[in-house]
Amino acid sequence: MLILISDAFDASLEGKLARFGEVTTDKARACEADVILVRAKTICDKAYIDSLKNCKLIIRGGVGIDNIDKPYAESHGIIVTNTPKASGIAVAELAFALMLSVPNNLTYYHHGMKHGEWLKNTKRTELYGKTLAFIGMGNIAYQVAKRAVAFGMNIVAYDVYVDEKKKDIVKFVPTPEEAVENADYISLHVPGMDSTKGMVNKELISHMKKHPVLINTCRGAVINADDVKEALDNGSISWYATDVYPTDNAEKLFSMDYPILGSDRVTLTPHVGANSKENLLRIGDEVCDTIERLKSEGKI
Ligand code: NAD
Repeated sequence: MLILISDAFDASLEGKLARFGEVTTDKARACEADVILVRAKTICDKAYIDSLKNCKLIIRGGVGIDNIDKPYAESHGIIVTNTPKASGIAVAELAFALMLSVPNNLTYYHHGMKHGEWLKNTKRTELYGKTLAFIGMGNIAYQVAKRAVAFGMNIVAYDVYVDEKKKDIVKFVPTPEEAVENADYISLHVPGMDSTKGMVNKELISHMKKHPVLINTCRGAVINADDVKEALDNGSISWYATDVYPTDNAEKLFSMDYPILGSDRVTLTPHVGANSKENLLRIGDEVCDTIERLKSEGKI
């Protein structure tokens, strides 16, 4: 069995996979690989899938599989799977770090100190007693919610699926409009797909009464970037903290005139939600478990 590691995984993964066969990081060998491991960078579109001659399995190390044309791969007999369990804690901690950085003016104070400015007159605000709204209340969102409860926040959420088990700390509401209307903070956790594209747009923003902070650790395309930039300019959204963009190709992103990059009221990280050292180890272990299982079931 030839396994291609096509994107960045933990360095230990190559050794762990050796028990299954030959392991390569040479992308030019994709056409002969039986198993291909990708994260967000390798785009498995129709042309890529057409170029694969032996592939039986593509594993996305991480959650969102929007960089893989799953129906097309499956129509070619390729199993497509991901590592849904691994990333919850890592992404939740980043979402929380982004949320804490805004009311605590962290980047503002930091730059002040670096430039000899003692900016003590600018007051911080607290998360305690504030309302945090979630759009999407899946695995990662629930991890964020649990941490927010410990900070004394009130939790509301809109999700197409209401999970009874999460009602212990989450108040589910039937529409995204209702979720955002009294929110001080809004955290986005829906998958990237046609039905969630541009969900945060002018219309939804018009229901946000409290000039909330918007945090996005799910997918860049879930916001309408022009509408969010306009809301940042006119103050209807007070801040946008994001880990995700319309593309993961940095060269393309920095040359595309993405309006969010031009705003002063943003905190930006380069899609590192799943990139904790601990999580990359967890992802590697889940990849190995998946290969082991599918092998024992005779599927690969
Ligand atoms: P999940 O499947 O556990 O949760 C997604 C939730 O969204 C589900 O509860 C689902 O019912 C809900 N949902 C789907 N469509 C919806 C809609 N139209 N309106 C409202 N709710 C809807 O997934 P998760 O593990 O929580 O991950 C969420 C997303 O986070 C992933 O799909 C991925 O895009 C993103 N992610 C980002 C990073 C990162 O590095 N920043 C890492 C992992 C995952």
